Amino acid sequence: MELTGASAIVTGGASGIGAASARRLAARGAKVVIADLKAEDGEALAKEIGGVFVTVDVTDTAQIEAAVNKAVELGPLKAVVNSAGIGWAQRTVGRDGEFASAHNLDLYKKVIAINLIGTFDSVRLAATAMGRNEPNEDGERGAIVNLASVAAFDGQIGQAAYSSSKGGVVGMTLPVARDLSAIGVRVNCIAPGLINTPIYGEGPDSEAFKAKLGESVLFPKRLGVPDELASMVEELITNSYMNAEVIRVDGGIRMP
Ligand code: NAD
Repeated sequence: MELTGASAIVTGGASGIGAASARRLAARGAKVVIADLKAEDGEALAKEIGGVFVTVDVTDTAQIEAAVNKAVELGPLKAVVNSAGIGWAQRTVGRDGEFASAHNLDLYKKVIAINLIGTFDSVRLAATAMGRNEPNEDGERGAIVNLASVAAFDGQIGQAAYSSSKGGVVGMTLPVARDLSAIGVRVNCIAPGLINTPIYGEGPDSEAFKAKLGESVLFPKRLGVPDELASMVEELITNSYMNAEVIRVDGGIRMP
């Protein structure tokens, strides 16, 4: 699918995998709307790639709508990458005998609200705008990529909220891909492994981070870098035969 002259939205586009994806989509000719909470980083990236930053909290439908409207002003909205998410630093669920605490329920709801419901809301509103596009010669009107995680498929300590949210993203992507195929909108999902981004609040020098690195099956052991995910995002957006796929990009860390 051609992106020249089209617009794109990247939620969570001010950092990490989202930022790398925004750079890739801009390089393919899209006018990219960076939809994120982080104004300073988002504005700087928008300037770098000739895009636009819009302050968006993905738990706020009106703010997502504003980003969609801005994108449509720039050109037909053909690509959406849902990368906004919170995760690993908030892993208190199930630790220290506090499993039943009210805090855990609040945390669970918060992670679901951002990672899962925020992703669905973005898909919902983007698909509506994409449905108004003229189809290309393959009948396509747009493509969406959702960021899940290998945590959707495993059971790590303290990850109930995060794994539920990412399992939900996988579970939502497949039926939505079927629904939206009727209007020429493809929907795919990526499950990253351990990618070196600021989402690890504890930072690369922490013991937890080093333990994760220890799980790498690559030689030499290493984490992924954001552009290794963004290249898959670009492929899933532009390859017209990719639909309803869930692809691990994890260096083999969760090989079955
Ligand atoms: P990151 O922290 O670098 O980027 C996430 C971005 O999302 C940030 O810019 C943040 O401001 C934004 N964000 C958070 N809450 C938001 C909200 N409510 N509204 C709008 N924006 C919000 O993290 P990343 O590693 O690039 O993660 C991108 C996606 O990939 C996330 O969904 C994450 O769960 C997923 N993922 C990352 C890894 C990894 O190892 N880094 C692994 C698996 C999955």
